[in-house]
Amino acid sequence: MKKEIYAKVSKDFFKKHKAYSVCSFIYFLFAGWWFGGFAIFAKFDTERMDFVGGEVSDAFMFLGIWLGLWLVHFLSVELATSRVGEKLMRLFNGIRRLETAEEKEYLQPIFNEVYLKAKESDPELADFNIGIYVIDSMTVNACAVGLRTVAVTKGAIQAFSAEQLKGVIAHEVAHILNADTFAKIKILIGNGIFTFCIMIAKVIWWLIGRIPAFRNPMNTVQMIFDALIFAFLFPMMIVMAISDRKAERRADSYAVDIGYGEDLVEALYVLEKISLKGIEGMIAKLLSTHPRVTSRIEALEVQLGIQEIEMRCISCDKRHTKKVNFCSECGSHSLQKIIKVK
Ligand SMILES: [Zn+2]
Ligand SMILES: [Zn+2]
Repeated sequence: MKKEIYAKVSKDFFKKHKAYSVCSFIYFLFAGWWFGGFAIFAKFDTERMDFVGGEVSDAFMFLGIWLGLWLVHFLSVELATSRVGEKLMRLFNGIRRLETAEEKEYLQPIFNEVYLKAKESDPELADFNIGIYVIDSMTVNACAVGLRTVAVTKGAIQAFSAEQLKGVIAHEVAHILNADTFAKIKILIGNGIFTFCIMIAKVIWWLIGRIPAFRNPMNTVQMIFDALIFAFLFPMMIVMAISDRKAERRADSYAVDIGYGEDLVEALYVLEKISLKGIEGMIAKLLSTHPRVTSRIEALEVQLGIQEIEMRCISCDKRHTKKVNFCSECGSHSLQKIIKVK
């Protein structure tokens, strides 16, 4: 069944995950270059030591390294998206299948109903095999993992009504269908293992450098490579966090599309009442992967028609009921956006 899910999530992966794709590619390029740099130094030294021999050209070496790293990336993503990989991810995240009669009789029908609605709106889902699972934690949360797993915590089962749970589950199913979880696998597991390989190579190279005969002549270049990677990683994290926040809104919007918008809003109101989050600092805000609950509620209520957007022209005071970039009355671009309850 993997093929169908794969085909579906990879079909418009780039369209929905430009930030992930571009960042991942740049990272891959940088890291390969970085690693390639080490290999060139290695050749530098080993030529002298008659280790590899001097016949291998630099370009050939770079190409080989990139292909090798790409293979590592590809294989780890393949493994992570397999059934076995998904089982492992569930295990590591403390996600278990439904066990008690109560869980099976209460949670399974709730999930089935939402899943059926999703299938009705998208016939391509017929071959999918997404299941509902439980996390034994009292925090109120839900998540989607891999290509087949939607999980809710025990806390969520208790805090939410059956209807509210449907809204939450619709949001999580959307994460799988929108390839958000697939993007996570590509970044965390694909790039993660890739980075791990580079780290190991770096440590080995550092150890070799300790041997006087292999003293590395190009330490400054290495430092520049390191600095470049580091300088690139932080902005990349911000770009990806923005992409994650967009994915959250898209998943919310999907819940509305398949008819669970009101249920999701109610669940978010519950979440908002019990949330203990204090005021966050600037860095935390930049790196936060979730929009604030209240801001999600507002966006959902606009989509559901409970609230409406009004654009007021600052020059002539005309009110536009739709989102516009300039005033149709006087042409002014200074508009004030007000979102209010209808
Ligand atoms: Zn989400
Ligand atoms: Zn105007």
